[in-house]
Amino acid sequence: MSTTVDKSTPVAVIGAGTMGRGITQVFAQSGFEVHVHDAVPAALDAGIGFVGKMFDRLVDKGKMEKAEAEAAKGRIHPVASVKEFPKPQLLVEAATERLDVKLEILKACDGLLPDDAILASNTSSISITRLATATAKPNRFIGMHFFNPVPLMKLVEVIMGLDTDEATLTKTIALAEAVGKTPLRANDSPGFVSNRVLMPLINEAIACVQESIADPASIDGIMELGCAHTMGPLRTADLIGLDVCLDIMEVLHRDLGEDRYRPNPLLRKMVAAGRLGKKSKRGFYEY
Ligand code: NAD
Repeated sequence: MSTTVDKSTPVAVIGAGTMGRGITQVFAQSGFEVHVHDAVPAALDAGIGFVGKMFDRLVDKGKMEKAEAEAAKGRIHPVASVKEFPKPQLLVEAATERLDVKLEILKACDGLLPDDAILASNTSSISITRLATATAKPNRFIGMHFFNPVPLMKLVEVIMGLDTDEATLTKTIALAEAVGKTPLRANDSPGFVSNRVLMPLINEAIACVQESIADPASIDGIMELGCAHTMGPLRTADLIGLDVCLDIMEVLHRDLGEDRYRPNPLLRKMVAAGRLGKKSKRGFYEY
């Protein structure tokens, strides 16, 4: 496998939700042709429309030339079926955080990719080694964990599965750098580093609400002003999506097997009520 990045070879993204659209934006903005698929046609349209608006906003703010924005929009191609992906050098799976969903996608895509293509998952918590079992080439499989909002967050947490090879790691690092990100490496373990640390913090902040220790704004204010967090844990949870937070806590609880990772009942209740945070306009705050 060549470990140098060639922008004339396309990349593919599966899932056009919160993360897929951000990943699409940064690759298109960096000069790659990006082919995007979502199982829900309306989600695909909404995702691509959102990225277009993001480019328009950058033009309005004077951060991007209009011609540059139009060229970036032209590099984004909706794809109705994964079978239509043109031989990409990288496929990033950014679909719903469920093992069965991801295994099915990876199985469907594996045989369609060139032998030297990298298959990556943006999973927040599911084992990269486990996901790799859906592919015939686990050495080419890796975790490429972008952060939300993707265009603004510098980090890509790069997660090695048990069989991921060094060439795949080197190329993934080069691809992350090619879209202006800082890749940092972690080994495969539930939640990796980022969510192993962040999600229990969010879960404890939710426990503080549930036990009426303070209201959400005070809890966030305490963490922002007292602990120098840029954004408090409850506003962060709303941004991530409370359903995504619950999914990740479930994985930590099940796979690490310790009671301290048990999702707080208030988190479960809010997800059951459809209060998912910013994306549903109501979570710990109203939007
Ligand atoms: P989301 O719910 O906003 O979007 C998921 C998209 O996947 C939806 O549009 C859905 O239609 C699509 N989808 C579901 N099944 C599919 C299938 N079989 N084929 C194609 N598309 C399918 O979720 P999200 O927040 O964008 O999360 C996506 C992934 O990124 C998850 O693995 C999540 O853990 C991870 N992640 C999320 C965040 C975050 O802050 N939200 C941060 C880092 C990583």
